[in-house]
Amino acid sequence: GATRAAVAPVWRPPAGAFWAGRWRDGAAAFPVHDPEDGRPLGEVTDAAPAEVDAAVRAVAAAVHDGPPWPGWRRREALHAAAGLLFERRDDLVGLISGEGCKTVREAAAEVSRAAETLRLSAERAGQLTGETLPFDATARGAGRLGWYTREPVGVVAAITPFNDPLNLVAHKLGPALAGGNGVVLKPAEATPLTALAFAAVLLDAGVPAGRIAVLPGAGARAGRALVGHPLVDLVSFTGGHRTGEAVARAAGARKTLMELGGNNAVLVLADADPARAARAVVEGAFGVAGQNCLSVQRVLVAAELADAFLTEAVAATGRLRVGGKRDPLTDVGPLVSAGEAARVAAWVAEAVAAGARVRVGGRREGAFHWPTLLTDVPPGVRIATEEVFGPVVAVETFTDLDTAVARANATDFGLQAGVFTASIDTALAVAERLRVGAVMINDSSDYRIDAMPFGGPKRSGVGREGVRHAVEAMTEPKIVAIRRG
Ligand code: NAD
Repeated sequence: GATRAAVAPVWRPPAGAFWAGRWRDGAAAFPVHDPEDGRPLGEVTDAAPAEVDAAVRAVAAAVHDGPPWPGWRRREALHAAAGLLFERRDDLVGLISGEGCKTVREAAAEVSRAAETLRLSAERAGQLTGETLPFDATARGAGRLGWYTREPVGVVAAITPFNDPLNLVAHKLGPALAGGNGVVLKPAEATPLTALAFAAVLLDAGVPAGRIAVLPGAGARAGRALVGHPLVDLVSFTGGHRTGEAVARAAGARKTLMELGGNNAVLVLADADPARAARAVVEGAFGVAGQNCLSVQRVLVAAELADAFLTEAVAATGRLRVGGKRDPLTDVGPLVSAGEAARVAAWVAEAVAAGARVRVGGRREGAFHWPTLLTDVPPGVRIATEEVFGPVVAVETFTDLDTAVARANATDFGLQAGVFTASIDTALAVAERLRVGAVMINDSSDYRIDAMPFGGPKRSGVGREGVRHAVEAMTEPKIVAIRRG
């Protein structure tokens, strides 16, 4: 019947890639599919190293030899782009929820966040300030006067993952352009159409065509050629830790920003409200089916609260509607591929074989994996030690706070953490001892605004993103000094 609207047509890029000032089809192409039903959505360029080389050279020429692009114009273009994201919201939601793994609701929220990221970037564009230099600090400074300004690094290479196909692209292109750079983007294989639509937004908003390039393609080929290109001045990478290691090798001795994975813990202390903590954990663990670097993967709950916490968490998990991405009532959509869902199921099976108990979930069908709560997960299985990047949470109990903090820190990662307690003193003491980039008090690890300095120690990355900090990283001081006669 007419109850279910026909699937809206998907926005198609004018060609499979954008570089050297125009839309172009590359020598090779690859198809883009909807991971939920396999429906073809379009075709994009599978960039070859020679095309990457031409794209980087063109951006370098625009940045170094092209007309100047002053801060006020950069600010205007980025503001206009933020507005265009809203005008094209339906197209973007269709793309994100089509090629990606987000539900339409999650995709709509991402469009708003990306607009926020662009607005924050626009604000920074007019605020790149240096300072005068204290030449009188040493005797050698006598008779000198000078200052530094912040100059763009030049050409930024951006590599992005599939899970936030719009906002994580905005987090690289927004600050790179705000800082006066040019940027070449290699988006995730699964989600290139969203990245191309974003390029179209920037171009229509007035970003000079020579300053941006988007080349879809394979990570090991196009991505590798990009990060290793001699004319690239800075590499900004978001993705998994293992890929990050390969990117670091290809980038060599070059400025590199890396946003890598997490294995985020939430501590629920004995004086917390277990129901409130449970609801926050379920939301923070199963949004985007757990495909989020900030997802809750481990919960450490005080033994005396364990039953109350688990009862509420199991109930809240059971209420989540697993279903198609296009259904506005869906809470949990698919993973990015059936293969990824099978991997997550295999990790759960490994934990169960080693003694873990499934409290809810544990089911897999195609690209769908049901939200899953485990207890009794033994140390050493992959669910405990690696980043699951799927809808699985391991709950364990503790009896003293030192052990809880030690357990939370017992991971190679350190992105974010959450702590639930009624005591602000305890919360601050725990926050001080957690080796992470951010601690959310009375919330799960899964909270971020786009203005936060974002990233973490250990294997969670190198440097910080978040608009202001990314602009800072993507610009460098340049000194001008005068010797008086
Ligand atoms: P991934 O590491 O598989 O791929 C990321 C990007 O790197 C893709 O564009 C891929 O094509 C490219 N790539 C692969 N091999 C490459 C190579 N040798 N050289 C250059 N580029 C290469 O990650 P994914 O599966 O797309 O995304 C999931 C991962 O991203 C998770 O680990 C998640 O934690 C992480 N992530 C981190 C953040 C953060 O801000 N910390 C945000 C989102 C996702």
